[in-house]
Amino acid sequence: MTQPVVRFAPSPTGKLHVGNVRTALINWLFAKGQGGTFILRIDDTDTERSTAAYEQGIRDDLTWLGLTWDKTFKQSERFDQYDAAAEKLREMGRLYACYETADELDRQRKLQRARGKPPVYNRAGLELTDAEKAAYVAEGRKPHWRFKLSGERIVWNDLVRGEQAIDTSSLSDPVLIRADGSYLYTLPSCVDDIEAGITHVVRGEDHVTNSGAQIEIFKALGGTAPGMAHTPLLVGADGASLSKRLGSLGMGELRSQGIEPLAICSLLGKLGTSDNVEIRESLAQLAEEFSFDKIGRAPARFDEAELRSLNASITHNLSFAEAQDRLAAIDANAANEAFWLLVRENCETIEDAARFVPVAFGDIDPVVDAEDRDFITAAAGLLPDGEITSETWGAWTSALKTETGRKGKGLFMPLRKALTGMERGPSVGDMLVLMGRDRALKRLA
Ligand code: GLU
Repeated sequence: MTQPVVRFAPSPTGKLHVGNVRTALINWLFAKGQGGTFILRIDDTDTERSTAAYEQGIRDDLTWLGLTWDKTFKQSERFDQYDAAAEKLREMGRLYACYETADELDRQRKLQRARGKPPVYNRAGLELTDAEKAAYVAEGRKPHWRFKLSGERIVWNDLVRGEQAIDTSSLSDPVLIRADGSYLYTLPSCVDDIEAGITHVVRGEDHVTNSGAQIEIFKALGGTAPGMAHTPLLVGADGASLSKRLGSLGMGELRSQGIEPLAICSLLGKLGTSDNVEIRESLAQLAEEFSFDKIGRAPARFDEAELRSLNASITHNLSFAEAQDRLAAIDANAANEAFWLLVRENCETIEDAARFVPVAFGDIDPVVDAEDRDFITAAAGLLPDGEITSETWGAWTSALKTETGRKGKGLFMPLRKALTGMERGPSVGDMLVLMGRDRALKRLA
Protein backbone atom coordinates (compact mmCIF):
# COMPACT_ATOMS: atom_id res chain seq x y z
CA MET A 1 0.00 0.00 0.00
CA THR A 2 1.24 3.50 -0.74
CA GLN A 3 1.75 5.64 2.31
CA PRO A 4 -1.46 7.30 3.40
CA VAL A 5 -2.01 11.03 3.25
CA VAL A 6 -4.88 12.10 5.49
CA ARG A 7 -6.29 15.29 6.83
CA PHE A 8 -8.14 16.45 9.89
CA ALA A 9 -10.40 19.32 8.89
CA PRO A 10 -12.03 21.14 11.78
CA SER A 11 -14.01 24.35 11.40
CA PRO A 12 -12.69 27.04 13.76
CA THR A 13 -16.19 27.90 14.92
CA GLY A 14 -15.78 26.29 18.33
CA LYS A 15 -13.44 24.33 20.56
CA LEU A 16 -12.30 20.78 19.87
CA HIS A 17 -14.33 18.33 21.94
CA VAL A 18 -13.82 14.64 22.56
CA GLY A 19 -15.72 13.67 19.40
CA ASN A 20 -13.58 15.62 16.98
CA VAL A 21 -10.39 14.85 18.89
CA ARG A 22 -11.19 11.20 18.26
CA THR A 23 -11.46 11.88 14.52
CA ALA A 24 -8.13 13.73 14.60
CA LEU A 25 -6.53 10.90 16.54
CA ILE A 26 -7.78 8.14 14.25
CA ASN A 27 -6.45 10.04 11.23
CA TRP A 28 -3.11 10.55 12.97
CA LEU A 29 -2.77 6.94 14.14
CA PHE A 30 -3.64 5.58 10.72
CA ALA A 31 -1.13 7.86 8.97
CA LYS A 32 1.70 7.45 11.46
CA GLY A 33 1.29 3.70 11.75
CA GLN A 34 2.29 3.48 8.11
CA GLY A 35 4.78 6.31 7.80
CA GLY A 36 2.17 8.52 6.14
CA THR A 37 1.34 12.21 6.25
CA PHE A 38 -1.10 13.98 8.56
CA ILE A 39 -2.40 17.34 7.36
CA LEU A 40 -4.27 19.87 9.47
CA ARG A 41 -6.73 21.76 7.30
CA ILE A 42 -8.64 24.64 8.80
CA ASP A 43 -12.14 24.76 7.27
CA ASP A 44 -12.79 28.46 7.65
CA THR A 45 -14.85 29.25 4.57
CA ASP A 46 -17.54 30.52 6.91
CA THR A 47 -15.73 33.77 7.61
CA GLU A 48 -18.54 35.08 9.81
CA ARG A 49 -18.38 32.28 12.38
CA SER A 50 -14.70 31.35 12.16
CA THR A 51 -12.35 33.07 14.60
CA ALA A 52 -8.58 33.30 14.97
CA ALA A 53 -8.95 32.41 18.65
CA TYR A 54 -10.72 29.12 17.91
CA GLU A 55 -8.13 28.33 15.24
CA GLN A 56 -5.31 28.91 17.72
CA GLY A 57 -7.17 26.83 20.30
CA ILE A 58 -7.37 23.92 17.86
CA ARG A 59 -3.64 24.13 17.14
CA ASP A 60 -2.82 24.35 20.85
CA ASP A 61 -5.03 21.39 21.75
CA LEU A 62 -3.62 19.16 19.01
CA THR A 63 -0.08 20.10 20.01
CA TRP A 64 -0.80 19.36 23.65
CA LEU A 65 -2.21 15.96 22.68
CA GLY A 66 0.91 15.24 20.60
CA LEU A 67 -1.08 15.12 17.35
CA THR A 68 1.33 17.27 15.42
CA TRP A 69 0.88 17.82 11.71
CA ASP A 70 3.21 17.54 8.75
CA LYS A 71 1.45 20.31 6.84
CA THR A 72 -1.29 22.78 7.51
CA PHE A 73 -3.34 25.26 5.50
CA LYS A 74 -6.50 27.30 5.70
CA GLN A 75 -9.36 27.18 3.26
CA SER A 76 -9.85 30.94 3.51
CA GLU A 77 -6.57 31.35 1.61
CA ARG A 78 -7.78 29.29 -1.31
CA PHE A 79 -10.95 30.95 -2.59
CA ASP A 80 -9.39 31.37 -6.08
CA GLN A 81 -9.08 27.61 -6.43
CA TYR A 82 -12.66 27.06 -5.27
CA ASP A 83 -13.94 29.72 -7.69
CA ALA A 84 -12.07 28.00 -10.53
CA ALA A 85 -13.55 24.62 -9.58
CA ALA A 86 -17.05 26.12 -9.36
CA GLU A 87 -16.58 27.68 -12.80
CA LYS A 88 -15.50 24.36 -14.21
CA LEU A 89 -18.61 22.67 -12.80
CA ARG A 90 -20.82 25.46 -14.20
CA GLU A 91 -19.34 24.97 -17.65
CA MET A 92 -20.02 21.26 -17.41
CA GLY A 93 -23.62 21.96 -16.47
CA ARG A 94 -23.11 20.36 -13.03
CA LEU A 95 -23.50 23.55 -10.98
CA TYR A 96 -26.72 25.48 -11.43
CA ALA A 97 -28.30 28.59 -9.99
CA CYS A 98 -31.42 28.36 -7.82
CA TYR A 99 -33.48 31.26 -6.54
CA GLU A 100 -35.84 29.80 -3.97
CA THR A 101 -35.87 31.41 -0.55
CA ALA A 102 -35.51 29.25 2.56
CA ASP A 103 -39.25 29.67 3.21
CA GLU A 104 -40.18 28.55 -0.26
CA LEU A 105 -38.01 25.46 0.05
CA ASP A 106 -39.54 24.72 3.41
CA ARG A 107 -43.07 24.91 2.02
CA GLN A 108 -42.09 22.70 -0.88
CA ARG A 109 -40.76 20.03 1.47
CA LYS A 110 -43.89 20.13 3.62
CA LEU A 111 -46.05 19.67 0.56
CA GLN A 112 -43.96 16.72 -0.61
CA ARG A 113 -44.22 15.09 2.80
CA ALA A 114 -47.96 15.64 2.89
CA ARG A 115 -48.19 13.79 -0.42
CA GLY A 116 -46.08 10.97 0.96
CA LYS A 117 -43.10 11.85 -1.21
CA PRO A 118 -39.49 12.18 -0.07
CA PRO A 119 -38.51 15.85 0.41
CA VAL A 120 -36.04 15.91 -2.47
CA TYR A 121 -35.33 19.20 -4.26
CA ASN A 122 -37.40 19.42 -7.44
CA ARG A 123 -34.62 20.90 -9.60
CA ALA A 124 -36.74 23.88 -10.60
CA GLY A 125 -33.50 25.86 -10.94
CA LEU A 126 -32.46 23.68 -13.87
CA GLU A 127 -35.56 24.65 -15.86
CA LEU A 128 -35.24 28.41 -15.51
CA THR A 129 -34.86 30.46 -18.68
CA ASP A 130 -32.44 33.38 -18.83
CA ALA A 131 -35.41 35.77 -18.70
CA GLU A 132 -36.76 34.13 -15.55
CA LYS A 133 -33.37 34.33 -13.90
CA ALA A 134 -33.08 37.99 -14.85
CA ALA A 135 -36.49 38.62 -13.34
CA TYR A 136 -35.40 37.06 -10.03
CA VAL A 137 -32.25 39.16 -10.02
CA ALA A 138 -34.30 42.29 -10.74
CA GLU A 139 -36.42 41.35 -7.71
CA GLY A 140 -33.24 41.50 -5.64
CA ARG A 141 -32.78 37.73 -5.27
CA LYS A 142 -29.28 36.28 -5.34
CA PRO A 143 -28.79 32.72 -6.53
CA HIS A 144 -27.47 29.86 -4.47
CA TRP A 145 -25.76 27.08 -6.41
CA ARG A 146 -26.50 23.39 -6.44
CA PHE A 147 -24.46 20.48 -7.71
CA LYS A 148 -26.36 18.29 -10.17
CA LEU A 149 -26.10 14.71 -8.97
CA SER A 150 -25.95 11.98 -11.61
CA GLY A 151 -28.88 9.99 -10.27
CA GLU A 152 -26.66 6.91 -10.22
CA ARG A 153 -25.88 4.56 -7.40
CA ILE A 154 -22.55 5.41 -5.81
CA VAL A 155 -20.78 2.47 -4.27
CA TRP A 156 -17.61 2.42 -2.20
CA ASN A 157 -15.87 0.04 0.10
CA ASP A 158 -15.74 1.85 3.41
CA LEU A 159 -12.79 0.85 5.58
CA VAL A 160 -15.02 0.72 8.64
CA ARG A 161 -18.53 0.12 7.32
CA GLY A 162 -17.79 -2.24 4.45
CA GLU A 163 -19.62 -1.82 1.16
CA GLN A 164 -21.72 1.32 1.08
CA ALA A 165 -24.20 2.34 -1.58
CA ILE A 166 -25.92 5.70 -1.91
CA ASP A 167 -28.60 6.12 -4.48
CA THR A 168 -28.07 9.72 -5.57
CA SER A 169 -31.53 9.85 -7.14
CA SER A 170 -32.88 9.83 -3.57
CA LEU A 171 -30.87 12.91 -2.57
CA SER A 172 -31.41 16.61 -3.11
CA ASP A 173 -28.77 18.21 -5.27
CA PRO A 174 -26.48 19.65 -2.58
CA VAL A 175 -26.01 23.40 -2.26
CA LEU A 176 -22.33 24.18 -2.77
CA ILE A 177 -22.47 27.99 -2.69
CA ARG A 178 -24.85 29.99 -0.52
CA ALA A 179 -26.77 33.04 -1.74
CA ASP A 180 -24.26 35.30 0.02
CA GLY A 181 -21.52 33.75 -2.12
CA SER A 182 -19.92 31.74 0.71
CA TYR A 183 -18.94 28.10 0.19
CA LEU A 184 -20.23 25.22 2.24
CA TYR A 185 -17.37 22.85 3.06
CA THR A 186 -18.47 20.29 0.43
CA LEU A 187 -16.77 21.61 -2.72
CA PRO A 188 -13.67 23.18 -1.11
CA SER A 189 -13.06 19.91 0.69
CA CYS A 190 -12.96 17.98 -2.60
CA VAL A 191 -10.78 20.59 -4.29
CA ASP A 192 -8.32 20.45 -1.38
CA ASP A 193 -8.36 16.67 -1.10
CA ILE A 194 -7.49 16.35 -4.80
CA GLU A 195 -4.71 18.91 -4.63
CA ALA A 196 -3.20 17.56 -1.40
CA GLY A 197 -3.27 14.00 -2.75
CA ILE A 198 -5.43 12.78 0.13
CA THR A 199 -5.56 8.99 -0.05
CA HIS A 200 -8.21 8.46 2.65
CA VAL A 201 -11.00 10.61 4.02
CA VAL A 202 -11.50 9.52 7.62
CA ARG A 203 -14.38 11.11 9.50
CA GLY A 204 -17.51 10.45 11.53
CA GLU A 205 -20.43 8.51 10.15
CA ASP A 206 -22.58 11.65 10.15
CA HIS A 207 -20.79 12.37 6.85
CA VAL A 208 -21.77 9.16 5.03
CA THR A 209 -24.44 10.83 2.90
CA ASN A 210 -22.11 13.71 2.02
CA SER A 211 -19.67 11.13 0.78
CA GLY A 212 -22.10 10.03 -1.93
CA ALA A 213 -22.24 13.57 -3.31
CA GLN A 214 -18.55 14.22 -2.76
CA ILE A 215 -17.51 11.11 -4.67
CA GLU A 216 -19.45 12.53 -7.63
CA ILE A 217 -17.74 15.91 -7.19
CA PHE A 218 -14.30 14.27 -7.11
CA LYS A 219 -15.11 12.56 -10.38
CA ALA A 220 -16.59 15.67 -11.99
CA LEU A 221 -13.42 17.60 -11.14
CA GLY A 222 -11.36 14.93 -12.83
CA GLY A 223 -9.95 13.36 -9.70
CA THR A 224 -10.44 9.93 -8.27
CA ALA A 225 -12.25 9.68 -4.99
CA PRO A 226 -10.00 8.83 -2.04
CA GLY A 227 -10.66 5.81 0.17
CA MET A 228 -13.30 6.44 2.79
CA ALA A 229 -13.62 5.48 6.44
CA HIS A 230 -16.59 6.59 8.52
CA THR A 231 -16.34 5.86 12.21
CA PRO A 232 -19.34 5.34 14.49
CA LEU A 233 -20.14 8.28 16.68
CA LEU A 234 -19.26 8.62 20.34
CA VAL A 235 -22.11 8.18 22.78
CA GLY A 236 -22.32 8.48 26.56
CA ALA A 237 -21.62 5.62 28.97
CA ASP A 238 -25.36 4.86 29.08
CA GLY A 239 -25.50 4.41 25.30
CA ALA A 240 -27.54 7.59 24.81
CA SER A 241 -26.06 10.42 22.80
CA LEU A 242 -23.26 12.34 24.52
CA SER A 243 -24.68 14.74 27.08
CA LYS A 244 -24.37 18.39 26.25
CA ARG A 245 -21.64 18.73 28.84
CA LEU A 246 -19.61 15.75 27.60
CA GLY A 247 -20.26 16.65 23.98
CA SER A 248 -18.68 20.01 24.53
CA LEU A 249 -15.99 18.87 26.94
CA GLY A 250 -12.95 20.80 25.74
CA MET A 251 -9.30 19.84 25.99
CA GLY A 252 -8.62 22.96 28.08
CA GLU A 253 -11.06 21.73 30.71
CA LEU A 254 -9.57 18.25 30.79
CA ARG A 255 -6.11 19.71 30.98
CA SER A 256 -7.00 21.97 33.89
CA GLN A 257 -8.48 18.93 35.66
CA GLY A 258 -5.04 17.35 35.45
CA ILE A 259 -5.89 14.81 32.74
CA GLU A 260 -2.83 13.56 30.83
CA PRO A 261 -2.91 13.70 27.01
CA LEU A 262 -1.95 10.03 26.83
CA ALA A 263 -4.98 9.06 28.93
CA ILE A 264 -7.23 10.83 26.42
CA CYS A 265 -5.46 9.29 23.43
CA SER A 266 -5.36 5.78 24.94
CA LEU A 267 -9.09 5.94 25.61
CA LEU A 268 -10.19 7.54 22.34
CA GLY A 269 -7.81 5.36 20.33
CA LYS A 270 -9.21 2.12 21.73
CA LEU A 271 -12.87 2.93 22.38
CA GLY A 272 -15.17 1.02 20.11
CA THR A 273 -12.38 -1.26 18.91
CA SER A 274 -11.72 -4.94 19.52
CA ASP A 275 -8.63 -4.06 21.62
CA ASN A 276 -8.81 -3.60 25.37
CA VAL A 277 -9.01 -0.05 26.62
CA GLU A 278 -5.82 0.40 28.61
CA ILE A 279 -2.98 2.84 28.87
CA ARG A 280 -0.51 2.56 26.03
CA GLU A 281 3.03 3.73 26.39
CA SER A 282 2.95 6.34 23.65
CA LEU A 283 1.14 7.58 20.60
CA ALA A 284 3.65 5.60 18.56
CA GLN A 285 2.50 2.39 20.22
CA LEU A 286 -1.14 3.27 19.63
CA ALA A 287 -0.28 3.95 15.99
CA GLU A 288 1.47 0.62 15.65
CA GLU A 289 -1.59 -1.19 17.00
CA PHE A 290 -4.11 0.78 14.95
CA SER A 291 -6.17 -0.86 12.24
CA PHE A 292 -9.53 0.06 10.72
CA ASP A 293 -10.42 -3.64 10.91
CA LYS A 294 -10.54 -3.35 14.69
CA ILE A 295 -13.18 -0.62 14.69
CA GLY A 296 -16.68 -1.98 15.26
CA ARG A 297 -19.94 -0.69 13.82
CA ALA A 298 -21.54 0.01 17.18
CA PRO A 299 -21.32 3.50 18.69
CA ALA A 300 -18.32 3.94 20.99
CA ARG A 301 -19.23 4.64 24.60
CA PHE A 302 -17.30 7.44 26.22
CA ASP A 303 -17.16 7.20 29.99
CA GLU A 304 -15.53 9.97 31.99
CA ALA A 305 -14.94 7.58 34.90
CA GLU A 306 -12.91 5.37 32.57
CA LEU A 307 -10.85 8.39 31.53
CA ARG A 308 -10.14 9.16 35.21
CA SER A 309 -9.10 5.63 35.98
CA LEU A 310 -6.77 5.52 32.96
CA ASN A 311 -5.36 8.82 34.11
CA ALA A 312 -4.74 7.40 37.57
CA SER A 313 -2.73 4.54 36.13
CA ILE A 314 -0.52 7.02 34.27
CA THR A 315 -0.15 9.24 37.33
CA HIS A 316 0.93 6.31 39.53
CA ASN A 317 3.95 5.80 37.31
CA LEU A 318 4.98 9.37 36.53
CA SER A 319 8.58 10.06 37.47
CA PHE A 320 9.46 13.06 39.59
CA ALA A 321 11.00 14.76 36.57
CA GLU A 322 7.69 14.42 34.70
CA ALA A 323 5.63 15.74 37.58
CA GLN A 324 8.04 18.36 38.96
CA ASP A 325 6.78 21.50 37.21
CA ARG A 326 3.17 20.84 38.01
CA LEU A 327 4.02 19.97 41.61
CA ALA A 328 5.88 23.27 41.91
CA ALA A 329 2.77 25.04 40.66
CA ILE A 330 0.82 23.56 43.61
CA ASP A 331 3.36 24.61 46.22
CA ALA A 332 7.12 25.15 46.26
CA ASN A 333 7.48 22.39 48.91
CA ALA A 334 5.59 19.90 46.79
CA ALA A 335 8.36 19.80 44.19
CA ASN A 336 10.15 17.21 46.30
CA GLU A 337 11.10 13.82 44.89
CA ALA A 338 10.59 11.77 48.05
CA PHE A 339 7.18 13.39 48.51
CA TRP A 340 6.08 12.63 44.95
CA LEU A 341 7.25 9.03 45.02
CA LEU A 342 5.36 8.59 48.28
CA VAL A 343 2.03 10.12 47.30
CA ARG A 344 1.68 9.32 43.58
CA GLU A 345 -0.02 5.94 44.23
CA ASN A 346 -2.79 7.89 45.95
CA CYS A 347 -3.26 10.42 43.15
CA GLU A 348 -5.55 10.27 40.11
CA THR A 349 -3.92 13.42 38.80
CA ILE A 350 -0.68 15.19 39.69
CA GLU A 351 -2.77 17.96 41.19
CA ASP A 352 -4.29 15.48 43.68
CA ALA A 353 -0.91 15.65 45.46
CA ALA A 354 -2.12 18.98 46.86
CA ARG A 355 -4.11 17.07 49.51
CA PHE A 356 -0.93 15.72 51.03
CA VAL A 357 1.13 18.93 50.98
CA PRO A 358 -0.08 20.16 54.39
CA VAL A 359 0.40 16.67 55.83
CA ALA A 360 4.07 16.63 54.84
CA PHE A 361 4.97 20.30 54.95
CA GLY A 362 2.30 22.31 56.74
CA ASP A 363 -0.41 22.15 59.35
CA ILE A 364 -3.37 19.82 59.60
CA ASP A 365 -6.12 19.12 62.09
CA PRO A 366 -5.15 15.84 63.76
CA VAL A 367 -8.02 13.43 64.36
CA VAL A 368 -7.95 11.70 67.74
CA ASP A 369 -11.00 9.75 68.91
CA ALA A 370 -11.83 9.83 72.64
CA GLU A 371 -10.92 6.19 73.15
CA ASP A 372 -7.49 6.74 71.60
CA ARG A 373 -6.42 9.74 73.70
CA ASP A 374 -4.30 7.83 76.18
CA PHE A 375 -2.79 5.73 73.43
CA ILE A 376 -1.76 8.84 71.49
CA THR A 377 -0.27 10.41 74.63
CA ALA A 378 1.73 7.21 75.16
CA ALA A 379 2.81 7.33 71.52
CA ALA A 380 4.11 10.89 71.90
CA GLY A 381 6.21 9.76 74.87
CA LEU A 382 7.66 6.76 73.02
CA LEU A 383 8.67 8.52 69.79
CA PRO A 384 12.37 7.62 69.47
CA ASP A 385 14.79 10.46 70.14
CA GLY A 386 16.76 12.16 67.42
CA GLU A 387 16.10 12.81 63.79
CA ILE A 388 13.32 10.80 62.18
CA THR A 389 14.57 8.32 59.61
CA SER A 390 13.09 5.44 57.65
CA GLU A 391 13.88 3.21 60.70
CA THR A 392 11.86 5.29 63.15
CA TRP A 393 8.38 3.98 62.33
CA GLY A 394 9.28 0.32 62.83
CA ALA A 395 11.08 0.95 66.12
CA TRP A 396 8.36 3.26 67.40
CA THR A 397 5.39 1.01 66.60
CA SER A 398 7.01 -2.11 68.07
CA ALA A 399 7.76 -0.23 71.28
CA LEU A 400 4.14 0.96 71.33
CA LYS A 401 2.87 -2.56 70.76
CA THR A 402 4.86 -3.88 73.71
CA GLU A 403 3.84 -0.98 75.93
CA THR A 404 0.10 -0.82 75.12
CA GLY A 405 -0.72 -4.31 73.90
CA ARG A 406 -2.37 -2.83 70.81
CA LYS A 407 -1.73 -4.32 67.40
CA GLY A 408 -2.96 -4.24 63.81
CA LYS A 409 -5.57 -1.65 62.94
CA GLY A 410 -6.03 -0.66 66.60
CA LEU A 411 -2.38 0.31 66.66
CA PHE A 412 -1.92 1.90 63.24
CA MET A 413 -5.21 3.66 62.53
CA PRO A 414 -5.11 6.07 65.49
CA LEU A 415 -1.53 7.00 64.56
CA ARG A 416 -2.50 7.57 60.93
CA LYS A 417 -5.47 9.74 61.89
CA ALA A 418 -3.50 11.76 64.41
CA LEU A 419 -0.46 12.28 62.18
CA THR A 420 -2.20 12.85 58.84
CA GLY A 421 -5.79 13.75 59.69
CA MET A 422 -6.89 11.07 57.18
CA GLU A 423 -8.04 7.46 57.36
CA ARG A 424 -6.37 6.53 54.09
CA GLY A 425 -3.28 7.63 52.26
CA PRO A 426 0.35 6.84 51.66
CA SER A 427 2.58 4.99 54.13
CA VAL A 428 2.52 6.84 57.48
CA GLY A 429 6.07 5.77 58.30
CA ASP A 430 7.40 7.43 55.15
CA MET A 431 5.16 10.45 55.69
CA LEU A 432 6.59 10.73 59.21
CA VAL A 433 10.08 11.19 57.75
CA LEU A 434 8.85 14.06 55.56
CA MET A 435 6.85 15.83 58.28
CA GLY A 436 9.71 15.63 60.78
CA ARG A 437 9.81 15.42 64.54
CA ASP A 438 8.33 18.80 65.49
CA ARG A 439 5.22 18.44 63.35
CA ALA A 440 4.70 14.89 64.56
CA LEU A 441 4.92 15.84 68.24
CA LYS A 442 2.63 18.80 67.74
CA ARG A 443 0.00 16.54 66.16
CA LEU A 444 0.29 13.98 68.93
CA ALA A 445 0.09 16.60 71.71
N1 GLU B 1 -15.05 20.75 8.26
C1 GLU B 1 -15.78 19.52 8.09
C2 GLU B 1 -16.35 19.11 9.42
O1 GLU B 1 -15.78 19.42 10.45
C3 GLU B 1 -14.85 18.47 7.51
C4 GLU B 1 -15.46 17.14 7.26
C5 GLU B 1 -14.47 16.24 6.56
O2 GLU B 1 -13.62 15.68 7.26
O3 GLU B 1 -14.50 16.11 5.35
O4 GLU B 1 -17.40 18.52 9.48
